[in-house]
Amino acid sequence: MKVTVFGIGYVGLVQAAVLSEVGHDVCCVDVDADRIESLKQGNIPIYEPGLAPLVRSNFEAGRITFTTSAEEGVNFGDFQFIAVGTPPDEDGSADLKYVLTVAHTIAEHMQSPKIIVDKSTVPVGTADKVAEVIASHLATRDSSLTFNVVSNPEFLKEGAAVSDCMRPDRIVVGVRPGDDADAIEDRFRELYAPFNRNRDRIIFMDARSAELTKYAANCMLATKVSFMNEMANIAEKVGADIEHVRHGIGSDERIGYHFIYPGCGYGGSCFPKDVQALGHTAEVIGYQPQLLQAVEAINNRQKQKLATYLETHFNNDLTGKTIALWGLSFKPKTDDMREAPSRVLMETLWAKGARVQAYDPEAMEECQRLYAEYCHSRDGGSPLSLMGTKEAALQNADALVICTEWQNFKAPDFDAIKAALKQPVIFDGRNLFDPERMRAKGFAYYGIGRGESV
Ligand code: NAD
Repeated sequence: MKVTVFGIGYVGLVQAAVLSEVGHDVCCVDVDADRIESLKQGNIPIYEPGLAPLVRSNFEAGRITFTTSAEEGVNFGDFQFIAVGTPPDEDGSADLKYVLTVAHTIAEHMQSPKIIVDKSTVPVGTADKVAEVIASHLATRDSSLTFNVVSNPEFLKEGAAVSDCMRPDRIVVGVRPGDDADAIEDRFRELYAPFNRNRDRIIFMDARSAELTKYAANCMLATKVSFMNEMANIAEKVGADIEHVRHGIGSDERIGYHFIYPGCGYGGSCFPKDVQALGHTAEVIGYQPQLLQAVEAINNRQKQKLATYLETHFNNDLTGKTIALWGLSFKPKTDDMREAPSRVLMETLWAKGARVQAYDPEAMEECQRLYAEYCHSRDGGSPLSLMGTKEAALQNADALVICTEWQNFKAPDFDAIKAALKQPVIFDGRNLFDPERMRAKGFAYYGIGRGESV
């Protein structure tokens, strides 16, 4: 089948790669000419495990093409995927300008029937808006052209995006009332058949429910994180260890062990903006989203947690301190630093006069791009020095802080850490280590909700 994907970011590029891998022909359209040019050269602009070889091999096989020409894209696919960003507007609502721009573009160029697929995370009612934009444009030139707009939200996790798309838990397809649901179901069953073999994962519903399903999923996950962070903060004050509590509650099947890790806050391009956007949707219809507001407030406070520990440890004077930071990305196996807790920490430390020596296995380039003016690497005096290894980040630092649970941070050489730091103190935003063991090794150790912290 022929598929066009608008927006070649984390979602668009991964979807394009897996659809081409199973044999579909995919045309990728992006307005970012540099991105398209570098993809044509075989350079993959984002880090995602397994993505680069998949894109390169399908590009070589001619199943995936890259263009900045919207017209070429619209003419190519029977399916037109919209996978552009939906960043938060000033009031927290999802900004639909990129989605609606693509809708205009499709309407402007289409010459044959199209199935327009909303992959972006969009508020309830957006499929209707996209349909309105297309219908009103077509009315000005060729009202005989037919189209459907279908909500098909993306559930991939960054860091596991390729495997999530290859083996999805579910494929939600939402059809607008009045559209031919049977015909649409048939087309989607054919498109996604390669991903739907061992059991039926396709869940058909109405478009509004599909749009809300995506927000509900992310908000539920964000709620789990904030709930655990709330428990961690209580544990700390009452002298309990949240890691014991986590084991204790996870063993209840109704709760389960997934996604109940306390930490220094959730980040990324989805949870923060989706919690805000659903809250905004609720407020617009006159419903007070108390739980969502609490989830967001707890998370914002949690992102300050490590900085607060540091300030207390250093008697409220971080001026001139050098802090080693392991982990910049918002979670492991990605280079994405959008809304990452590391950013809140670094910005707070700089405001208090401290400098940062940072290391991340994948996000160094992204960090350099975001904070170019802070980092004149290697002169030793700049607010941010990006170091080549996790060991180099430790040299002559006053403390080590861990913000991301990358695998290779989990069993470090503690003697080397001790020898490199000016004083043996670790602030662990991901509870990677055992507090007692750390104390036995001679470290001052601050975890999240471990009972002994400040
Ligand atoms: P992204 O910022 O990585 O990529 C968006 C791309 O769209 C960019 O390359 C941009 O240049 C391009 N673009 C903007 N306007 C365009 C236009 N008119 N025509 C063609 N291309 C255009 O975004 P992302 O992280 O892939 O997210 C895309 C959507 O998917 C968002 O709504 C997001 O909430 C949702 N989503 C993201 C994830 C995730 O983990 N990143 C997971 C599920 C859903």
